[in-house]
Amino acid sequence: MNSKGLLVVVSGPSGVGKGTVCAEYVKKHDDCALSVSATTRAAREGERDGVNYYFIGEDEFVKKINEGGFLENAVFCGNRYGTPKAPVLKMLEEGRDVILEIEVQGAMQVRSSYPEGVFVFVLPPDMKTLEQRLRGRNTESDEVIEKRLSRAKEEFNFIEKYNYVLVNDAVENAVRKLGEIIKAEKCVMARNYEYIKKEFLS
Ligand code: 5GP
Repeated sequence: MNSKGLLVVVSGPSGVGKGTVCAEYVKKHDDCALSVSATTRAAREGERDGVNYYFIGEDEFVKKINEGGFLENAVFCGNRYGTPKAPVLKMLEEGRDVILEIEVQGAMQVRSSYPEGVFVFVLPPDMKTLEQRLRGRNTESDEVIEKRLSRAKEEFNFIEKYNYVLVNDAVENAVRKLGEIIKAEKCVMARNYEYIKKEFLS
């Protein structure tokens, strides 16, 4: 059937655990890769350059924007984030699925330039749980946490632009649901129409 990979865009508020869900999914699926973003944010303890992010400076980031090197890019809580375009397009051509774990502004840019993507929004079970998870991470100051919480509320306004919502009540459930979404999307007739036409309708 369709030999091209699926581009899966996963968004959701900071602290919802979308990074863990995506990483767990990719660990279990060799045919799926997680795109590594570039950011101007400082690395957190334990984060590695080229693995979690490409940590780059403002000048390099702007240069890459001007060269058209990003599939999308956005400012989030004062830092820049962007998806390097070439590796994502290459993996899709090679038939690998690619997950972009990105915030809503970037996701909307991808929706315009790559509408055949699948757009998934990860929700916490409720707001109280989200706040507890954010505070429990112990990686950010109170000020940054407040900023991220208010940004979370803004992000919920974009939810209707997504194809799927997925409640992260427990990581293994959320990973399973993400897998079910991806499986179902691969069976969408329109995604396979070229093959069907060639094989059965000619
Ligand atoms: P964090 O600083 O917690 O790693 O990420 C902050 C936010 O930026 C998260 O919502 C994350 O999904 C988003 N993000 C990470 N990489 C990218 C990217 O390449 N583009 C966009 N638009 N958002 C990103």
